[in-house]
Amino acid sequence: MNNKKDIRALSKEQLREFFVKEGDKAFRGNQVYEWLWVKSAHSFDDMTNISKETRAMLEENFVINHIKVDAMQKSSDGTIKNAVKLHDGLIVESVLIPAKNRTTACVSSQVGCSLDCKFCATARLKRMRNLNPDEIYDQVVAIDKESRLYHNRPLSNIVFMGMGEPLMNYNNVLKAIDKITSDEGLGMSPKRIVVSTSGVPKMIKKMADDGVKFKLAVSLHSAIDEVRTSIMPFNATFPLTDLREALQYWFLKTKNRITYEYVVWKGINDKQKDIDALIEFCKFAPSKVNLIEYNPIDDGEFQQASNQAIESYVSQLEKNNITVTVRRSRGKDIDAACGQLANKS
Ligand code: SAH
Repeated sequence: MNNKKDIRALSKEQLREFFVKEGDKAFRGNQVYEWLWVKSAHSFDDMTNISKETRAMLEENFVINHIKVDAMQKSSDGTIKNAVKLHDGLIVESVLIPAKNRTTACVSSQVGCSLDCKFCATARLKRMRNLNPDEIYDQVVAIDKESRLYHNRPLSNIVFMGMGEPLMNYNNVLKAIDKITSDEGLGMSPKRIVVSTSGVPKMIKKMADDGVKFKLAVSLHSAIDEVRTSIMPFNATFPLTDLREALQYWFLKTKNRITYEYVVWKGINDKQKDIDALIEFCKFAPSKVNLIEYNPIDDGEFQQASNQAIESYVSQLEKNNITVTVRRSRGKDIDAACGQLANKS
């Protein structure tokens, strides 16, 4: 049993080779590959155009480590949160966010998180392991199904803003996105995918070198090192000058502007000097700012800043020709909003 391999860790070419070695046709590999990815088969028995003997042989050699939606919660605003059980029993969460013209899947990239952002509920869960490409892919497929079922339309967008730091599981995230965007997967446009990172400079440069086509969002929250380090301690290791340099490199190579995610908190980053620093930071590479609403996570250490402080951000950013949007949170009543994913249900 333990010797069985995860069949979805094999590339199409490897599957084709496997079948040739078994004395079958390489084409069988294509058929099985299609079942695994395009048709998202959960078991070998689903593969109805494959002979019984071949299915039994596959069963002996491989497993399909499919995720299982263990619990589903629906918010009064239509947001759905899935608690997803992995083959080893660990749980991650993903969220479906319906809006007027789109349905967005917010997916996880790791079980827990190794970063220690003081305002984020996921940070309180230890990082257990990285998700495999198929586990990320499966979350998207599950949400696409729910979108069709409950909202009568397919999934249109994906954001890597669930649990974990995607750039600390870069290879698997990239492989998952390859499958999501491939015609031999879901065939979605990479332009509709956003990878959100706390900002790992070296990996941002690597993404640029790899010529990725998806969009980049950076959780900035402060453009002043001392402030940022106090709320996102890993900033001490990756200070803003390094981040800035990596982002300039990103823009030079990809010509894609960057989105900065930013929460304004009372007494933390709601002063004039914070606004000035953000405006300066935005000048280094074409960017826009999403001011996101704070979603409280039990203790009262962090509080959303006053409307006046937020208005001040908006008007001054606009005055400096920086695009800014104020984002309202969704799914708060079921702990499904940004930073609230903590396996509570
Ligand atoms: N690790 C990645 C992706 C996960 S967090 C990253 O840091 O970008 C997704 C977004 O939610 C980030 O912008 C994060 O800063 C934000 N976030 C975390 N906790 C939050 C909270 N309590 N309220 C609002 N946004 C939060």
